[in-house]
Amino acid sequence: MGRIIAQGRETDYLHIIMSKVIADRFCLNTRLRTLIGAMLAVVLSSCAWSDSQPVEAPVASQWQPQTPVSDRVVHSAPDSYSAEPRMVLRSVISRDKYLPEQVDFINELLKFKQTVTVLTEVEEGPLFDPDTQEIWMPGSFADVVESYFGKEDAPIADVYLHTLVHEVGHVLYSQYDLPLLAREEDAADALASVLLLEYVEDGASVVLNAADMFGLESEQFEKLEESDFWSEHSLDIQRFYTTLCHVYGSDPAAHADLVNEENGLSQDRAETCQYEYERIRQGWLDVLKPYLKR
Ligand SMILES: [Zn+2]
Repeated sequence: MGRIIAQGRETDYLHIIMSKVIADRFCLNTRLRTLIGAMLAVVLSSCAWSDSQPVEAPVASQWQPQTPVSDRVVHSAPDSYSAEPRMVLRSVISRDKYLPEQVDFINELLKFKQTVTVLTEVEEGPLFDPDTQEIWMPGSFADVVESYFGKEDAPIADVYLHTLVHEVGHVLYSQYDLPLLAREEDAADALASVLLLEYVEDGASVVLNAADMFGLESEQFEKLEESDFWSEHSLDIQRFYTTLCHVYGSDPAAHADLVNEENGLSQDRAETCQYEYERIRQGWLDVLKPYLKR
């Protein structure tokens, strides 16, 4: 900065010095040596400007790229994780106001090999794209939840959390060489049950709300189409009963009311749920051992 402010005086100084050196060296007359001195001073002062420019220019940290608002990271995991691959949330608004905390929960629980980005300003989904490592959680999904449960009672945060952990199942299959012994969609549902039941306070109510969502979705269609059977997912009604079975199996005494021929588990299915849940719990926790933080 100081060098640039002194530039005018510095030029005069160089001008005088160079005129004198040239005159002394080559014995030129005053007028000619003044002209040559002036020319050299201009050349040298332009070098001085070049050297000074980085000092005068704004430092990099003061400049921010003009990124569109929708692309800015408005939430990410705590700084302690910033150096490692993690889940980041790119969102201006989400219909699930707890989504930032839910992303933190995932980051505090799991190690990722690559950063995975959660987007909410998208049209399609929920889905996971392994090519971009993006999870799409569109606002329109909340509309679907509301359409099933009603605007007042829609458990948007619970359904989003269950869905987010389900998508994390696909992320883990894409990033790690995990054994897959049946349909990945069923394994992802099982992961959501296990992580929510084992690591979330009152996770059972989150999982039960997700089960209700499957049950309500299954009621939307009077008749199943061929495409329902081609789907890589189990039928919604199967996902409903299996998810109920996981909750019941995790603590049969606490969830005895789920055994209910009217709108819950049959006695036959309930008898195997404890075994079924213990197998998926042990399976997922064993497979995830190198990637679990707690
Ligand atoms: Zn899936």
